[in-house]
Amino acid sequence: TIYLDNNATTPMHEDVIEAVNEANTLFGNASSMHSYGREAAMAIEESRKALASLIDCDPSSIVFTSGASESNNTVFNIFRERIDLGSKRNRIVTTTIEHPSINELVKYLKNLGYHVDECPVDHSGRVDLEVMKTYLGEDVALVSVMAGNNEIGTIQPVKEIARLAHEVGAYMHSDATQAIGKIPVSMRNWDVDYLSLSGHKFYGPKGIGVLAVKAKAPHTPLIHGGHQEGGRRAGTYNTASIVGIGVAAALAERDLEEESKKLWTLREMLRKGIEERIPNVVVNGNQEYCLPGTLDVSFPHAEGESILLYLDMEGIMVSTGSACASGSLEPSYVLLASGVDIELAHGSIRFSFGRYNTEDDVAYVLEKLPPIIKRLREMSTR
Ligand code: PLP
Repeated sequence: TIYLDNNATTPMHEDVIEAVNEANTLFGNASSMHSYGREAAMAIEESRKALASLIDCDPSSIVFTSGASESNNTVFNIFRERIDLGSKRNRIVTTTIEHPSINELVKYLKNLGYHVDECPVDHSGRVDLEVMKTYLGEDVALVSVMAGNNEIGTIQPVKEIARLAHEVGAYMHSDATQAIGKIPVSMRNWDVDYLSLSGHKFYGPKGIGVLAVKAKAPHTPLIHGGHQEGGRRAGTYNTASIVGIGVAAALAERDLEEESKKLWTLREMLRKGIEERIPNVVVNGNQEYCLPGTLDVSFPHAEGESILLYLDMEGIMVSTGSACASGSLEPSYVLLASGVDIELAHGSIRFSFGRYNTEDDVAYVLEKLPPIIKRLREMSTR
């Protein structure tokens, strides 16, 4: 089988599995003062350092969470509370193509009456700084823009947006979940106040993530309880997963250059192969500012879900643009917000590469995909 759905999740690296298995014996509660507790706490602090190094921030900024969804919700909750308490900065600015853990949260907050603006993106899914400027003002509390898009791979000018946000006195958050291990991520260089990431997107365990919070940025826990993480996130430490994400972080940092080159090579092989072998295809997203392993393609007159299922029968696993909305057959909101025609959005497939993919995988897809598209187009009534 060929797994080309690495933006949905990745398998754990063998070093991660080994470290997690070993850390599962560290059963002491990391908050306990006795030696079992201290042993676990030490392992957690090692992991914290590895994550801080990966995203270039102080270890004290790292707050372990259950994943990027929780991290994103935590950030918005901080500013929701400030707004509730009467802050004059009562507006949040984000974009139309954020991950559902922000996009759906925004819908929820708007329903409750909060003022949230979603800055539109251009036809490549990228934020235009001039457009962003028109959304910013002295009433903005938080600007939240993802680093790289999970569907189309478009990379946002986070550093430039952070500068604009700070110019009007707002705080800046970036969901860097898809960027980790693929492009350099630096909290210091980007000058963002909050950053989210998730272990399972870079060969770490599922259900573990990070919210990095700069020392001077406001914080309120989403989950109240014990004093873990300096009172920033309650709940008994998930020691084994925290150790696992630490090992994954070290690997991601070590292999960044090599991996991103490899991912881009495979992605470009597939893109060119598809464009050569299949007529009438549209490649979505920004081709200059693009996560190296992501390729999103629309096949007019073929339904994305049908392509996915036919590919699956050949042992090839991909996703439709609307992966996070799967179950519904709605076209991807990310593509629609990028101005992609609804017809094209229905026929889109996301191929996302990872460290275990090879050139043989690409060759196999290029053998199996063209006849599938041809057959579906022949059957199509549209
Ligand atoms: N943000 C982005 C950009 C993602 O791709 C994902 C993954 O689905 C998430 C957030 C959510 O991560 P998690 O499922 O670990 O909460």
